[in-house]
Amino acid sequence: MLKRIGVLTSGGDAPGMNAAIRSVVRSGIYRGIEVYGIYHGYKGLITGNIKKLEASDVGDIVQRGGTILYTARCEEFKTEEGRAVAIEQLKKFGIEGLVVIGGDGSFMGGVKLTELGFPTIGIPGTIDNDIPGTDFTLGFDTALNTIIDAIDKIRDTATSHERRFIIEVMGRGCGDLALWSGLADGAETIMIPEKKENIDTIVERLNRGLQRGKKHNIIVVAEGVGSANDVAEAIKARANMDTRVTVLGHVQRGGSPSAFDRVLASRMGHKAVELLLNGDKGKMIGIENNKIVAHDILDIVTKKHEFNNDLFQLAKELSI
Ligand code: ADP
Repeated sequence: MLKRIGVLTSGGDAPGMNAAIRSVVRSGIYRGIEVYGIYHGYKGLITGNIKKLEASDVGDIVQRGGTILYTARCEEFKTEEGRAVAIEQLKKFGIEGLVVIGGDGSFMGGVKLTELGFPTIGIPGTIDNDIPGTDFTLGFDTALNTIIDAIDKIRDTATSHERRFIIEVMGRGCGDLALWSGLADGAETIMIPEKKENIDTIVERLNRGLQRGKKHNIIVVAEGVGSANDVAEAIKARANMDTRVTVLGHVQRGGSPSAFDRVLASRMGHKAVELLLNGDKGKMIGIENNKIVAHDILDIVTKKHEFNNDLFQLAKELSI
């Protein structure tokens, strides 16, 4: 059985990463193994920025956003030479298995480590919910709640001033944050990369609403569709309608994780340790139908997150 494992966070930070670190550390210690924290993602793996974590080191973090292990992008890890150094460091510290908390880029790193024979398990930590093999990624629920909070506030002004608001949320390739927040907040229009709509269709909808006496409007745009300012200009050019733009930006990434994300992180961290101790490697933990599952990480990086068309249709139906 393994005696010593490591844990790192990589790529964009997400609320719930700390709760996952805590879970990995304490689940490991509970089972009599040592857990080492690797700082600054794969960069720390190459430079040897590695420290043993005790149960008390992960106290008081379950409720904190971000990641106590810090995160970084590391180009060197994408090279064979860089990974060879990383493997050497792991050997030097006697680390025999690794938990990587991050997004699809970080999982590519995990695939490479697995190919080198190093047992690696991935935990999906990204607010975008853009990972296949899991209904939810860590941080998505928290970010969603942050967005909803902001849109609720904007809606008060939209209603009082009878204005149209365009709100840009994160999500380059995956529109889940826009879709779920738009549905949850009763947005009249949701613009996502998976279902690109012609701007004329959107203008038509705005005009129809106007004819029915609807003077305020919420349009949620995923950044992958284009900038909210461009959408505002296009609407102005076609319909001479004024809109107000809010780009939510990085407020979406931070903050105290929701109860859902904390519980999910705790369950995923625990499962990751269990898999490593069972001799598993090259897996990603997910949650499907409220069951914690494990998929081959290679499968995950070659697939795409499935778009929920039913949800999109529902949002449309409810925003008539
Ligand atoms: P995320 O995990 O949020 O998608 P990135 O795409 O920036 O974030 O990836 C995080 C890190 O994972 C990169 O900086 C790099 O160190 C590592 N990584 C990404 N792609 C690869 C790859 N093809 N091979 C090895 N490591 C990779």
